[in-house]
This record gives sequence, structure tokens and C-alpha cells, in this order.
Amino acid sequence: MILAKLVFECFEDTTMTRVELAINSLITELKYNGQIIGQEFPTLLKDGYFVTQVLCPEEESLAYTNHNNAVKQAIERLSESGVLQPKITILGQELHSDSTDPYHTPSWQILYTSYVQTCSPLRCGEHFAPIPLYRLPPLANGCYKQVINWQQDWQACDQLQMNGRTNEFESLSQIGTIDSPLGLQSRKLCQRIEQKSAIPTYYYLYRVGGESLSKEQQRRCPGCDGDWSLTEPLHQVLDFKCDSCRLVSNLSWDYK
Ligand SMILES: [Zn+2]
Ligand SMILES: [Zn+2]
Repeated sequence: MILAKLVFECFEDTTMTRVELAINSLITELKYNGQIIGQEFPTLLKDGYFVTQVLCPEEESLAYTNHNNAVKQAIERLSESGVLQPKITILGQELHSDSTDPYHTPSWQILYTSYVQTCSPLRCGEHFAPIPLYRLPPLANGCYKQVINWQQDWQACDQLQMNGRTNEFESLSQIGTIDSPLGLQSRKLCQRIEQKSAIPTYYYLYRVGGESLSKEQQRRCPGCDGDWSLTEPLHQVLDFKCDSCRLVSNLSWDYK
């Protein structure tokens, strides 16, 4: 991931509210287009300039060619609000986040996230590296809002179960079963992404607990009850994969 600085300059008399609204709407559209990552985008006013720091999947993320219509419209709104297009400075590689998938067409991909993750929730099946969403054909309304919102929901459930909250079992079933509301929604989203991208898209099912290691190793695919265990773990995370149900999972974290 790349850390970048956006500097916004006003070219005519305007109001703080108008500028803030215009900048916020650009930031939101960039987020829903996968060009910037995360939920918090600190902005400050310094020497008459508005400065926002963002995390991008790659150095070219903010290039014009990656903009969708909503981003282009948000840039026009900036100018209507008396603000110039932002000047972009690449600050460098961010140390704590995963490196973006190299530019290629993956043979398969995984919808995968976790509560600590700051990157695209779509990973290449070959490299297990996050794929910038703007590399895919847009889903609905010309953006990836559905995927970004899905990631937030999944992360919220993961956070609750990690913290051992009282509804632990409820949040666990949301991220660990295929027939929970979130499980159903996740698989639909995978189908939609697969339809649009023509790349087989798998859903990652979280697994923790279980009675014993041997029972966990014999776990069957929850979609078709078939044998889905892999002979070798993949990317140190995945131990199960069902190609017909498009599901992957890990050996229970309690026994890994
Ligand atoms: Zn890859
Ligand atoms: Zn299956």
C-alpha cells in the first residue's frame, strides 16, 4: 500500500462548508471506487490549503484512467465549489499493510477480509495479495460500494467475536456459516463478482472452535457435504477448498 497526500487549493472566494462538502464527496467516491482504502481520512487546513492523507493500493491508483464517472463528477463539484483538483504527492510505501497483487488476470480470487485488514477484500488466489477493486468491471451503479460495505459488516462481526462479546456466537455464525444473513449475502456478492469479472470467485469461511483436531480435519464442505480438504495448506491460511461451491476455509484456528 502507498501513502499519498492530496493538497486542495481554493482558487476563488468560497466557504469552509462548501469546500469540506466537496472534498468529502470526492473522498467518498474514491473509496467506493477502490482507489483509496480505509474509513478515516485525516484532513487539515494548513497555510490556506486543505491537506488529506490517504492510503492507495498502488502508486497509479489515483490516475485519471482509474476514475469512474462518480469520481469525475466529484472533481467537477470541487471546481464548482472554488477548489482546484488536488495535487497528489506519493509519500511512499506504508509498512503495515499488505502489498497489492501484481497486474495480471488471476486464475481465481477470494473474497477475504479480517478485522485488522486495511486493503481490498478481494484477493488473488495465486498470490493471496489484495486486488485493487478498480481493476474489475464495476458492480452496481458504476462502483464497488457493495463490496466496501460488505467488508465493513464482515470486519464488525470479526471484531465482536475477537473481543469475546456476549453475542460472540451470533457474530461467529455470520462469518463462519453459509446460511447466515451475512453468509448468504457474501456468496451472492461472490457470484456477482464472478459474473462481472469472469474469474472464479470464492468465499472465505472463518473457522474457530470444534471438538478435536481429527474432527476438524474431517470437516466436509458445508455447501455440498463433499471432501474439500487440500493436501497442502494454501498461503498458510486455507486448508479447505470446494471448487463447485466456490468456498474456502481454514483448519479451526484452535488447532492450527
Ligand atoms: Zn496474483
Ligand atoms: Zn462444496
